[in-house]
Amino acid sequence: SSTVRLLTSSQVITSVVSVIKELIENSLDAGSSSIEVRLESHGLDRIEVVDNGCGVTAEDVAFMAQSHFTSKISGVSDLDSLATYGFRGEALGSLCAVSDVNVTTKTGKDDVAMTYSMDRKGCVLNAKPSHLPKGTTVSACHLFKNLPVRRQFYSNKKKLREETKRVEDLVKQFAVIHPDVRFVLRADKSVVWQKSAVCSHYQALLHVWGSSVMAQLLHIQEKNQDLLVEIEMFLPKADAAIVQMKTEQGFYFVNHRPVFMKDVEKVLKQAYSAVTSDDRVKKISYAFLHVQVSPKEIDVNLEPNKTNVLLHKKDEINEWISQLIQSSVFPRPE
Ligand code: ADP
Ligand code: MG
Repeated sequence: SSTVRLLTSSQVITSVVSVIKELIENSLDAGSSSIEVRLESHGLDRIEVVDNGCGVTAEDVAFMAQSHFTSKISGVSDLDSLATYGFRGEALGSLCAVSDVNVTTKTGKDDVAMTYSMDRKGCVLNAKPSHLPKGTTVSACHLFKNLPVRRQFYSNKKKLREETKRVEDLVKQFAVIHPDVRFVLRADKSVVWQKSAVCSHYQALLHVWGSSVMAQLLHIQEKNQDLLVEIEMFLPKADAAIVQMKTEQGFYFVNHRPVFMKDVEKVLKQAYSAVTSDDRVKKISYAFLHVQVSPKEIDVNLEPNKTNVLLHKKDEINEWISQLIQSSVFPRPE
């Protein structure tokens, strides 16, 4: 029923940020090299994500916003080799349940783009030709207009501004972990933040943090053959002045997914506070950490919004990271 649909939707689509997260992930899964996020009235009037990816084929259009439709995996066993963000087939359908969705799309084989207006059930209401180039544009208008309580939350100007800040942080996370993709964030037509395509995580971070910060960071890259894990980190040098700063500027990823890593943050805090010998180090301000493991070694199936990823060998990996920080940031004098 439509009530059940509204309830399940509200687990995936909980906020403006969650909409942007799902749409950016779809654009990345589609192989886009340019992703533009547009907000009108902090996303409440309109959220739009424009990409230049593979587009949705004419055969898939009718299904794309149906519950559990995904073009990305065909069975549970595929989860062991998951290389995409999406696999549940829930986001687009959920978005249709809580906003007015239009999808404009053109594949490499189509002569012309088509714009599809979707109804609450994720069915195509009507289709008309459009002039956009190859790629997909999803726009969601009047988010939560049928969920008065959720809409009420956004009547507060301060909360709206905070939400837009979170959108900016999220766009930066994806931009940092996908250096080769161009990202633009616009709010009511003006550019809030943008990054052109660059070649490395270093260059992407340079764009976000600036050269004086980068000069104080160490670049660490290691593999652990036993745990089958790889890590790339940018961390403050032992004597870096910026360690004392307390604003939160960390980027944490597992297999390209932005995640919370409370344990790793703790490991970092311990390592740095041990040398500073006072408790000024509340948070490691500038940290980039990307853990890559075989898809078999993680469980991304915990929650619909997937910000918590379960590493099967979490304790061993944290221990390894801790030793790595000790030996590369704080090596013992010979
Ligand atoms: P999932 O990402 O889990 O497959 P979604 O509900 O997010 O589920 O998307 C449903 C389907 O719609 C995708 O599997 C894909 O085929 C198609 N799709 C959605 N967004 C895009 C996009 N930006 N480019 C190409 N295809 C898309
Ligand atoms: Mg998706």
